[in-house]
Amino acid sequence: MADTPAGFDTLQIHAGARPDPATGARQVPIYQSTAFVFRDTDHAAALFNLQEVGYIYSRLTNPTVSALQERMATLEGGAGAICVASGHSAQILALFPLMGPGLNIVASNRLYGGTVTQFSQTIRRFGWSATFVDFDDLDALDAAIDENTRAVFCESIANPGGYITDLDAVSAISEKHGIPLIVDNTTATPYLCRPIEHGATLVVHSMTKYLTGNGTVTGGCIIDSGKFDWSANDKFPSLSQPEPAYHGLKFHETFGPLSFTFHSIAVGLRDLGMTLNPQAAHYTLMGIETLSLRMDRHCENALKVAQWLEADPRVANVTYAGLPSSPYHGRMAAICPKGASSLFTFALKDGYEACVKVINAVELFSHVANLGDTRSLIIHSASTTHRQLSEAQQIAAGAAPNVIRLSVGLENPEDLIADLDQAMTKACAS
Ligand SMILES: *Cc1c(COP(=O)(O)O)cnc(C)c1O
Repeated sequence: MADTPAGFDTLQIHAGARPDPATGARQVPIYQSTAFVFRDTDHAAALFNLQEVGYIYSRLTNPTVSALQERMATLEGGAGAICVASGHSAQILALFPLMGPGLNIVASNRLYGGTVTQFSQTIRRFGWSATFVDFDDLDALDAAIDENTRAVFCESIANPGGYITDLDAVSAISEKHGIPLIVDNTTATPYLCRPIEHGATLVVHSMTKYLTGNGTVTGGCIIDSGKFDWSANDKFPSLSQPEPAYHGLKFHETFGPLSFTFHSIAVGLRDLGMTLNPQAAHYTLMGIETLSLRMDRHCENALKVAQWLEADPRVANVTYAGLPSSPYHGRMAAICPKGASSLFTFALKDGYEACVKVINAVELFSHVANLGDTRSLIIHSASTTHRQLSEAQQIAAGAAPNVIRLSVGLENPEDLIADLDQAMTKACAS
């Protein structure tokens, strides 16, 4: 290979994959095996002591899943990655080494609805809590971080509001406080945005969406930048202090830039067990092979549909950051210059009832609670994904009652526009 680093299109196909040493198989095999035979008792002991890296049991690591982990770490520019069963489990596993009872995170108030519920309700069962703030108000973000805060959390392109986070400004604040910034990069994917280059410590993904890209499997991933100094203060004892379950091993001292990754496998997956299965890893590896091609087309189609909607008199507003009229269009150049992905919302002047009628009248768009599929998807967030939220939370999350969310797929854009047009003709008074 040449000395210059390979480009994204090359890496999305080749990173983490090599011909199978046993058979020469060119595609990454699905290693459908729970356990892996040790060479001898010394080998087994070295693996269990974390003195040697290898395969023990598929709750921890599996060769197909490892190939995906290496590909994700490479594409995001991180030191290591851990794949898990879903995007939501990635969020829990990312927080697990950082948190404890009484500790909190400061999160953006513009997040995927399920994440708002996870952070405002479920994590309280662990004694953790979240404070939600407007990340455009940097003073409010700064003020919300207290001595018990262990992470700052946001999405690069937020689901669903067409919002782009100023990651550079946010990471400067988390860095000042000596705490990690976790960025959910699901909507952008590493093709459109690489949060580590903007100061993120950890990147989390729902691989269920654009990475797999065809609505087949759920999966999640955490990528560690490897750049955070977990021993700079006493806030992160799981990584900086002796781990009793490993004879007093100190993860950060021993594994350096891979300490978060190793801890998340050796302790996190071992004890929480939200493992990705090798079949799902295979589907996701295949999806990623065409990620850049798909994302370019997703962005192109989304822009065409958004432009048409914006010009339509039945539409009150469109939130796509790819439109010059978006207040976040200026951030695109810095954060995701290749495009603003294909997830956005539009509001109908005729309100909630008209939205419900549009959903029932579309023929090509599928009414589903998913995004990032080859197929175009439509949902009325206020009555579905964001139903558990209060109206104030819905509005803050960009899911007001008159708002419809689209995930624009890879069909011909003129067909998508025709479908929306006929549905709006049935639904709207004028
Ligand atoms: C879907 C999604 C999640 C949750 O991922 P699952 O794979 O469904 O668990 C988290 N964040 C964002 C931005 C999402 O779109």
